[in-house]
Amino acid sequence: MNCRSFRRHLLIDPRHLDASLRDHAARCSFCAQALERALAFERRLADAVQQEYGQVAGGERLDGADHDPGHNPSHDQRSV
Ligand SMILES: [Zn+2]
Repeated sequence: MNCRSFRRHLLIDPRHLDASLRDHAARCSFCAQALERALAFERRLADAVQQEYGQVAGGERLDGADHDPGHNPSHDQRSV
């Protein structure tokens, strides 16, 4: 693994690193910083998509997080 291969992978999918990529990031501070920037960019991108999609589809999350606005235990109080 060299820096060029690492950077190329960052452009493709910075969130999924195999063992050799993780090993390189652990040993190369330049690539570790590049990885941080790439992940920060991915998060901003995901947030932007989430905001856009949330306005269209009523807030359903894209990232697989358990999010169920229709069920809130604190609102389960029954009237008497
Ligand atoms: Zn490197």
